[in-house]
Amino acid sequence: MHACRQCGGSIEAPFRYCPWCAAPQRAKLVEFFAGTGTEAGKALRVSRYTEEGHVRFSVWNESGVAEAAVSVDDEAALQLAGFLRGPSPATRPGRARGAARPAGGR
Ligand SMILES: [Zn+2]
Repeated sequence: MHACRQCGGSIEAPFRYCPWCAAPQRAKLVEFFAGTGTEAGKALRVSRYTEEGHVRFSVWNESGVAEAAVSVDDEAALQLAGFLRGPSPATRPGRARGAARPAGGR
């Protein structure tokens, strides 16, 4: 049992919408990321549950069936975001080897 964010009415946990004012009770953002290379056709689905404070990753095959899933808390999701925001492939050390013009100019 919790209170509706919109009207304050009490709601049983499984309700996705408030029975009193119809406000959505579950903030869920979903994004699909297509696979590449030999995994084209597969997809990574990322579901962000902003109220519950976790992010769920699921791997979908070419038939649209989820093969695996894992949820991480918001802290781990932020770590992942930072990891992905790291150096882009073009500026990553090691990849620059043999480049005509080194980045940084040290
Ligand atoms: Zn309500």
